[in-house]
Amino acid sequence: MNERERLKEKQRIVIKIGSSSLTHRETGGVNFSKMEQLVRVLANLKNMGKDVVLVSSGAVSVGRNGMGLPAGKLTLPQKQACASIGQARLMMIYQKLFSEYNQNVSQILMTKFTMTDELSRPNAVNTFEELFHLGVIPIVNENDTIATYEIEFGDNDTLSAIVASLVHADLLILLSDIDGLYTDDPNINPNAKFISVVKNIDDKLMLMGKKSTSTDVGTGGMATKLTAARIATFSGTDMVIANSDHVSVIEEILNGEEKGTLFPANKKKEFQIMDFI
Ligand code: GLU
Repeated sequence: MNERERLKEKQRIVIKIGSSSLTHRETGGVNFSKMEQLVRVLANLKNMGKDVVLVSSGAVSVGRNGMGLPAGKLTLPQKQACASIGQARLMMIYQKLFSEYNQNVSQILMTKFTMTDELSRPNAVNTFEELFHLGVIPIVNENDTIATYEIEFGDNDTLSAIVASLVHADLLILLSDIDGLYTDDPNINPNAKFISVVKNIDDKLMLMGKKSTSTDVGTGGMATKLTAARIATFSGTDMVIANSDHVSVIEEILNGEEKGTLFPANKKKEFQIMDFI
């Protein structure tokens, strides 16, 4: 069975979607049709008997937009206040949409401290396991309202890989505003070639990722996605970066189709999640 065919058998799946995919670029307003489509696909995966976790960004941008704050850099307290407002709104929308498909969801907000603290980490694992047992879809975000530099993950690409590792997911899908990994930035270099499978995330590749840019809405560029790929694959999880333009790409990936860039699991015995936090 080839690497793509194997994706058909994935049972525990973490899906990450970023702020830039959930909001309209021109206005910063919520993209309700994108959220509706995403919820429908995830509810369907759940009905297929899979365990599903959604890592969703958007708290800061939804809060900011809701309060009508002008463009420009936010101060830390402003950002944290926006996250507090936006996270509640985001969950309200998810609750409403998932309930249309008879799905129960829950909210899990994490900081680095959740992972480094000997008590919090097993608590988080136990909570996830019980939620799976109850058939609930956990919706995870960083606890931006209280996370400052010392305890923040900083981006949800890394956070989603840590969650995938924590719950022993067998697949992580990062939905992004790009089709996957290219040999160069396709926005600048028309000769850039698409890479379908990456078996070895070496230092050369990491350096390539560092040169990529990120949007002004989310925080993750290609560099954070490659760090996520290292965490996920080293802990035994396959990872795919795919374009969030059409969220049906999730179903296509799970049908074994050649969509996005696949990083096959490459479990390393010596892998320590703490080395990446
Ligand atoms: N946690 C942030 C939010 O919900 C986003 C982080 C990211 O974009 O990766 O706004």
